[in-house]
Amino acid sequence: MTHPQPAIDTANPLLAEWTGAFGLPPFEAIKPAHFRPAFDKALAAHRAEIDAISANQDVPSFANTIEALEKSGKALDRVSNVFFTLTGADTGDEIEAIERAVSPLLARHGNTLHLNAKLYARIADLHGRRETLGLNAEQARVLDRYRTRFVRAGAALDKPVQDRFAAINERLASLGTAFGQNVLADEKAYALMLEEGDLAGLPDFARAAARAAAEERGAPGKYAITLARSSCESFLQFSARRDLREKVFQAWIKRGENGGTTDNRAPIAEMVSLRAERAKLLGFASYADYRLDDQMAKTPQAARDLLDEVWGRGRVKANAERDSLQAMIAQDGGNFALAAWDWRYYAEKLRKARYDLDEAEIKPYFQLDKMIEAAFETARRLFGLRFTLARVPLYHADARAWEVTDEAGRHVGLFIGDYFARGSKHSGAWMTALRDQEKLGRNQAEWEPVSRPDCAQIQELGARSDAKPVPTFADRAPIEVRPVILNVCNFSKPAAGEQALLSFDDARTLFHEFGHGLHGLLSNVTYPLLAGTSVSSDFVELPSQLYEHWLEVPEILQKYALHVRSGEPMPKALLDRLLATRTYGYGFATVEYTACALVDLDLHSLAEPGALDVGAFERKSLERIHMPAEIVMRHRLPHFQHLFSGGGYAAGYYSYMWSEVLDADAFEAFEETGDVFDPATAKLLRDFIYSAGNLRDPAEAYKAFRGRLPAVDALLKKRGLDRAAAEPVIS
Ligand SMILES: [Zn+2]
Repeated sequence: MTHPQPAIDTANPLLAEWTGAFGLPPFEAIKPAHFRPAFDKALAAHRAEIDAISANQDVPSFANTIEALEKSGKALDRVSNVFFTLTGADTGDEIEAIERAVSPLLARHGNTLHLNAKLYARIADLHGRRETLGLNAEQARVLDRYRTRFVRAGAALDKPVQDRFAAINERLASLGTAFGQNVLADEKAYALMLEEGDLAGLPDFARAAARAAAEERGAPGKYAITLARSSCESFLQFSARRDLREKVFQAWIKRGENGGTTDNRAPIAEMVSLRAERAKLLGFASYADYRLDDQMAKTPQAARDLLDEVWGRGRVKANAERDSLQAMIAQDGGNFALAAWDWRYYAEKLRKARYDLDEAEIKPYFQLDKMIEAAFETARRLFGLRFTLARVPLYHADARAWEVTDEAGRHVGLFIGDYFARGSKHSGAWMTALRDQEKLGRNQAEWEPVSRPDCAQIQELGARSDAKPVPTFADRAPIEVRPVILNVCNFSKPAAGEQALLSFDDARTLFHEFGHGLHGLLSNVTYPLLAGTSVSSDFVELPSQLYEHWLEVPEILQKYALHVRSGEPMPKALLDRLLATRTYGYGFATVEYTACALVDLDLHSLAEPGALDVGAFERKSLERIHMPAEIVMRHRLPHFQHLFSGGGYAAGYYSYMWSEVLDADAFEAFEETGDVFDPATAKLLRDFIYSAGNLRDPAEAYKAFRGRLPAVDALLKKRGLDRAAAEPVIS
């Protein structure tokens, strides 16, 4: 579908004032054709602001340089935030075409900012005089982060080197966009269409989800298994048809590796080589060295040490699991060796046999809406937050919004949950922001409807009581901007009128993303650079993974795990059995994840990747660590979006494990008090982690919360790996 080219400027809803509730973008008025002109204008506006700052004849000061930079780029933030919300959660041919055109422009824009010699000279000058500037702690941190960021982006390099650096950045941006679009194309292209007779083993919820997926694909009455994780994983777990499991599994692990225009192997080889070259220009031995230098881990070796410790134990446990599954096959009368597409199926059978517990029995107790309430209730008990459904227009009918308030009824932010899989959404689950928290009040000129009586709808705390004549933008005191935070997931959408049901893993994902959401919502900083989740990637998973622990708290489950038909809480015996099997299958999960983290580090530690054969590299890297033959990486390289769709986790996939050391230890802080909602511990957690953004170095922030740095013990205990070497059989 195409839209006529609209008139731009103020007629462009992306550039006009956003006067609706909560200052949300007017989604219903925004059409794909608005984005390109809005980007062009916003980029030009930001360039003009940067030029003015760098050309300033006054002696550099924190206000005329750092604070001015922090206040710049407003329109660009707004347009980008809306655009990238859509590219992830509700894309299509038009948006994808714009994304391909815009991503190199944004990379070029980043280059003009970070490679601006006059600007960097001002920042370096300020940094050299930082002790004499009278800065408070937050300002000192912002200045330090600016300098680090500019240096790491090539600001201190010679001009000819900078030119090469800039070209690399642009090329990487285009490749990253292509990578994500290729994965989505492969996912959209595939559906295994089944008839009633092909569904042996599938429980009701999986049949209903497959039926709804077929209907969405224009085949009512049939059943579709798609490559969305919740669709194909539950098929692999339950389908008694070994031939069909193999088909689905092969399609799943081949995403991005199917030849033709969507094959990602060539883009990966080019990206790895460009990243290595860029790291070298900055004086680092490899991309991994460059990347980790600014992380909590500091060096690839530190990350490896942790992964190696976990890998050995995880592999022993996974191999024991494999032997048990093979025995199960024999017991079942099967005469074949366990294959990767059998693992989930027999693991589920074995769980049922050992613990009298199966996913189909558990799932009716995990209603999506009840789990959302459970996540909200946890936030109320820890942080005093309340959530009220807000009926506001959003970008898709499946997305819902809640206003978040504190104990005193003050506005905290807006939370948007977009939970269902669809063809227009990228796979995975993530948190993002339509607006970040800050206190510089830089948004006001654009979206405060100053002359209107309904301005109280615009939810900045300071704006409401101000009924005096409106001052000019420059005169205004800083006003706090409160955040708008999204969680995007890919749970199977139920048929009309049915409740969506989650697996226990899905529920954990929901809590995980909600933990990230709180990191954004509770943010309490002045400078946007430091807001919310803008911390190092091996620290950013602490708030999310820590939050998962509260899903397993019995009082939360008793209250919110209610049967979809009867409304009855989960029987105590079932709940006990569920919690008793908490670490069941963790050998598999540990191997599936850790292999990815190790291959990622291997790949990005190459000093001279040369003409890389991606498939061969992956195989060799897995051979080196003796990957069990029956387990496939959770994300194989050709669809490893964490590494290549943008690159947020390139040489950084170890972050989940690194953060898990922190989250396991952090939850023990609550357990040690005897109250998993202990108010004093929750206050420390809020003050130093959830609301603190990037105010402190991550190790310092953790010590401020816990009084010390964590050891690996709590993690090993959490994963059931502490006894693994001594007791190599799952129990
Ligand atoms: Zn996360």
